[in-house]
Amino acid sequence: MAVYKDMPEVEIRERRLNAILSYQGDAETLNIQSKKRKVKCPGSSYNQCSQCAEGCAETITYHVIGAAVVSHAPIGCSIGVSPRHILSRAVSKNRGLPEHKVQMISSNINEEDTVYGASKKLFAAIYEADRRFKPKTIFLQASCASGIIGEDMESIARQAEEKLHYPVVPVYCEGFKSNIWSTGFDAAFHAVLRRLVKPAQKKQHDLVNIFNFAGSDTFIPFLHKLGLRVNYLVPMATLEQIASLTEAACTAHICETLATYVAAALEEQYGVPEVKVPPPFGINWTDGWLREIAKYTDRLDLAEQVIAQEHERIQPELEKLRTQLAGKTVYVLSGDAFAHNLANIAKDLNLKVIGLSTLHHDLHFETPQQVNTLDALIKSNGNIKNVTVCNKQPYRILKLLQDIKPDVLIVRHPNLAPFGMKLGIPTLSEGDGNYSIGYDGVLKFGRRLIELLAAKNLFNNIALHAKLPYSKWWQQNSIVNFNNTQDGGL
Ligand code: SF4
Repeated sequence: MAVYKDMPEVEIRERRLNAILSYQGDAETLNIQSKKRKVKCPGSSYNQCSQCAEGCAETITYHVIGAAVVSHAPIGCSIGVSPRHILSRAVSKNRGLPEHKVQMISSNINEEDTVYGASKKLFAAIYEADRRFKPKTIFLQASCASGIIGEDMESIARQAEEKLHYPVVPVYCEGFKSNIWSTGFDAAFHAVLRRLVKPAQKKQHDLVNIFNFAGSDTFIPFLHKLGLRVNYLVPMATLEQIASLTEAACTAHICETLATYVAAALEEQYGVPEVKVPPPFGINWTDGWLREIAKYTDRLDLAEQVIAQEHERIQPELEKLRTQLAGKTVYVLSGDAFAHNLANIAKDLNLKVIGLSTLHHDLHFETPQQVNTLDALIKSNGNIKNVTVCNKQPYRILKLLQDIKPDVLIVRHPNLAPFGMKLGIPTLSEGDGNYSIGYDGVLKFGRRLIELLAAKNLFNNIALHAKLPYSKWWQQNSIVNFNNTQDGGL
């Protein structure tokens, strides 16, 4: 079956990948059941919080250089614009690019518009975005409100294009459609594939597409060792980079959750091969990733030389770090797939991965050959006894950490760090998704953990003064069961 379908909307992850939001058990069982698509996900009787697919779509659209975004939504849906603006400025500076400012306007749908129609407001917002930002393309982001009233964004986009003479691209990321907020990544990439990507004019055999979040520039120096150039996508890419990404020798990504859809579609539609091994987190995955890239860029001998030299270079410090960190227990809390990346680095540093929690779990991928990092992690680390899938719910995560008591907590999203800190657990926040790639990434990870463990007293002090919103009785007596709709004690 074709990965890419020429339709305005991408299928939600629950249907396309059988994604789930709830599981508790061990890694091997999850992996086996996932392959059979038979993981039970009864959900929860109570949700403290959630997130929205629009937020994930913005991760892509807000950071396209030269584009503006019109959010066809009530103003409250644009709550994420401010942190993304700060992030954009920091990342552009870090990567040596001109300062990137998020160019965004909300159509501010209100109650009356949901009755009498909001298309006039959408046109007005599009032309205002054109006047203010002079963009080369405008993304139109859908929301619950625009979806519920059935706004015809396709025809509005076509009419606006006739007037503006550049692409006006709808992104169907309505929050209500999917419980799996990563559906927003797929929605944004689908829009990019539909409207902005062009067939290759010529092939660039030394160019590698890297789909990443807006992280620091670690891939350019890393792939320079193989004489390769990097096309960072999509955050912080220009429209020209996006249009010509079909010219690259291959497509890699830092996270299955982020980019397996777009990578598979690029391979299918334009013949750009997808690198189908785990991303370069941890030594064995980095070796395999370099070999795979070398295969597509005809550099196999050079890759072997680089791998041997890099192993030799990092060995003395790696051994020191492994001795210092030996036996420390670690728990990873992150989005699906990226948790596996972080756990794979931890095992290289002699840490004992005693558990991991992912925010959702995809049961299968676009093509059977695509990478399965849970499978790869079990192969390199062995089984992990405590694996949960949990969409952030603080009452569950806090209880789980209280029961498991790891020496270190590693989180991918900075807003998850207080979970560990309030419990006195030294917590490493891996906010920059590119920071720990490659061989140096393992060393940097180890150095930060040593510093973190040295600050254990600070975390103890934070815990002493932190007030949790749960009663002592509840903390001592409740049983949080991720496989049951009844959460004990509530
Ligand atoms: S699109 Fe829907 S779920 Fe998302 S922020 Fe707006 S109202 Fe909330």
